[in-house]
Amino acid sequence: MIDSYRHKGLRRQLIDELKEKGISNQAVLDAFDKVPRHFFLDSSFMNQAYTNMAFQIGAKQTISHPFTVAFQTTLLELERGHRVLEIGTGSGFQTAILCAIGVRVVSIERQKELYIKAKPIISHLGYSPNLFYGDGYKGKASYAPYDSILVTCGAPFIPQELKDQLKVGGRLVIPIGEGKMQIMTRLTKLENGEFETETYGDFSFVPMLTKTAK
Ligand code: SAH
Repeated sequence: MIDSYRHKGLRRQLIDELKEKGISNQAVLDAFDKVPRHFFLDSSFMNQAYTNMAFQIGAKQTISHPFTVAFQTTLLELERGHRVLEIGTGSGFQTAILCAIGVRVVSIERQKELYIKAKPIISHLGYSPNLFYGDGYKGKASYAPYDSILVTCGAPFIPQELKDQLKVGGRLVIPIGEGKMQIMTRLTKLENGEFETETYGDFSFVPMLTKTAK
């Protein structure tokens, strides 16, 4: 896999586009500079890798729009060394963005094909998140508690396990809704165990599915 000056130039243009759309978190923008998105796409989409578009990645799933990745990552308010759980590894692009920010990442994917495909690409970039094939509804209790949890598929409801695995003060960013659109939602865990809820408008994600696919 080659990361040419042309690709780097295209990344800078994408970063400018993200800034125009309101992304201002420097750590997030720097991560977009570091991670070559074209590594995560089929060669037929190479030329469009740095446009603000979603693409098929196999197993009927899609890599999220760059803006969506940047927006969700910003909502997590990450700090270096934070422990983050991601539900829906997919292509692995969002996972790599989290790693580039310097947080410790645990990521779960329910499609074996995608789990297998993402792993070597992320390793090739020098990152070593803990990747798992399994059901994201259960979270990953063995690595909990988390400073942040990020769900990258549309959830019909908020899984209790994910709430339980969050630290006090920790944030859960989750698109909620069935059907075509979901409402981007951020829950912050309070000291009394309750949650503060904020919403950030409509987004469109592939659905969070219940059974682990073969
Ligand atoms: N972060 C990814 C987004 C991929 S789309 C990227 O940028 O490429 C969402 C992913 O969530 C899909 O790969 C889908 O297979 C996965 N997914 C859906 N339901 C899930 C579940 N219950 N547990 C874990 N992953 C799930």
